[in-house]
Amino acid sequence: MSGPKDAIALAEKVLTLLAEGSFSATYKYALFIALLDLCLEQTSKRGAPPSVLTTRQLAEKTIELYWPHAIPFEGQAVLRQGGTHQGSQAEILRAIAGFRGRHAGSSTELIFRARSRDEKGFEALVRLVEWKLIEMPIPRLQVLGGEEERFLYEYAWTRDIQRSEVSAYQRRERSTFDNRLLLRPRVAQWFVQLNGVLRPLIQREWARMVAAMNGLPELRLEEFLFGASRISLEAVRSPLRELQSGRCFYCDGQLGERSEVDHFIPWSRHPDNGLDNLVVAHDRCNNAKRDFLAAAEHVERWAQRSRSLAGDLEDISQQRDWARDARKTLGVARAMYVRLPEDARLWQREKTFEQAHKERIVEALAA
Ligand SMILES: [Zn+2]
Repeated sequence: MSGPKDAIALAEKVLTLLAEGSFSATYKYALFIALLDLCLEQTSKRGAPPSVLTTRQLAEKTIELYWPHAIPFEGQAVLRQGGTHQGSQAEILRAIAGFRGRHAGSSTELIFRARSRDEKGFEALVRLVEWKLIEMPIPRLQVLGGEEERFLYEYAWTRDIQRSEVSAYQRRERSTFDNRLLLRPRVAQWFVQLNGVLRPLIQREWARMVAAMNGLPELRLEEFLFGASRISLEAVRSPLRELQSGRCFYCDGQLGERSEVDHFIPWSRHPDNGLDNLVVAHDRCNNAKRDFLAAAEHVERWAQRSRSLAGDLEDISQQRDWARDARKTLGVARAMYVRLPEDARLWQREKTFEQAHKERIVEALAA
C-alpha cells in the first residue's frame, strides 16, 4: 500500500475520514486530536517527531481531552457524546464523568489534582479507557468505504482481541499484546505541520456532532468544549509575577494592576496549562500577542527561564499544587518552531512582527 505523498494529501484523507463517519460516538475526533498532541509532545530534543506511540499514551491523552466535557453543561447534565438512544452516553465519557464526580469538588477542577487524590482510581480509569480505545476506535479510525487502509499507523492486534490479554499486559503480566502504534513514515512530521489547520477543523466537527446529539446550537458548545477560559490561572499569577520581578514577560515594563497570565504557546495551537507554558504580561501585551507564536528573543528568554529557574518553578508547582512538565512543554515548542516555514513571521511586540530567526530559536530550545 502506498501512503499519502505529502502533507496536503494526508490532510485530504483525514478530512474524508472525518466526513465519512461510521462512528456513533465522538471518539474519532478525540483520537485524532490525541494523535496530533502526542506527535507534538513527543518531539525529541533535535526536533524529530516520534515514530511510535502507545495505547497507554493515547488513553491518558483521551482522558485529558474529555476531562472538561465531563461536567454538567450550563448546570444541566453532562452532554451526550455517544450511545444509540436518548439518555445513553459514550462509555469513555461516562467513566470519566464518574471519576470526576467522585473526586472533583468544582467544575474547574484540574485533572492532575483529582489524579493525585486517587491514584488507584485514576489507574483503573486509564486502563478502562485504554481497553475501549483498543477495542474500537483505534482499529476503526482508518476505515474508508468499509475497508481499513492503514495510512496513519500500523498495529499488531486484531478485532477479536480479548480483554483478558490486554488486562494481563496492563498488570505487567505475561501477555502477547503489543501496545504500539507504528506511525507511517513522515506522518508524525506532517501532523505537526498541519496541527494549526487540522485542530480547529476537528474541534468544529466534534462540536457539531455534540450539538446535533443534544439539540443545541454549535456556537455555544465550542467554547465549552475547547475554550481556555474555564480554568482560572489566578492561583499562579502572583508567584509567577514575583519570579519575573514584577515585570512584563514580553516588554519588560513594570506590571501594574492589570496583568494577565498568558499561554506562551497559544492555547488554540496546543492547550497546555503546565507551569512552564505560563508567563505574566500586561493585558495590552497579552492582547496584542493573541494566538501568534512569539519571536526569537522571547523564546530565548522563555527557554532560559525553564532552565535557570527550574527550582523556583518546581516550588510554585508544589506550593500551588499546579502541574508542571517542562519536557513536554518544551517538546511542543520545539515541534512547532522547527517546522515553521522559512518565511514565517513571529510576534515581537504590539503590532510588530519579525522574521523567524529559526536557527536561534532551535538552538535556544535544544539546550
Ligand atoms: Zn508588556
